[in-house]
Amino acid sequence: MEIEAKKFSNKEINVTYDPCICKLSGICAKELSHVFSDNIIPWINLNQDATDTIIQQIKKCPSGALQYIKI
Ligand code: SF4
Repeated sequence: MEIEAKKFSNKEINVTYDPCICKLSGICAKELSHVFSDNIIPWINLNQDATDTIIQQIKKCPSGALQYIKI
């Protein structure tokens, strides 16, 4: 069974998270915890920092589980 990637949006970007390929390294939650929380649902809150900062963090995701597209 295929699990759909989770989707999150603000006014500037759409972000997807694919739990099937996440390495659970925790880099996102450690480095930008106010956006990528490991204990709050929804766990990605794109309104907590500048979009450019969020994009830079997404680019550090080692597995590619986090992806973004500009709206
Ligand atoms: S940085 Fe990427 S691989 Fe690491 S926990 Fe976050 S989503 Fe998963």
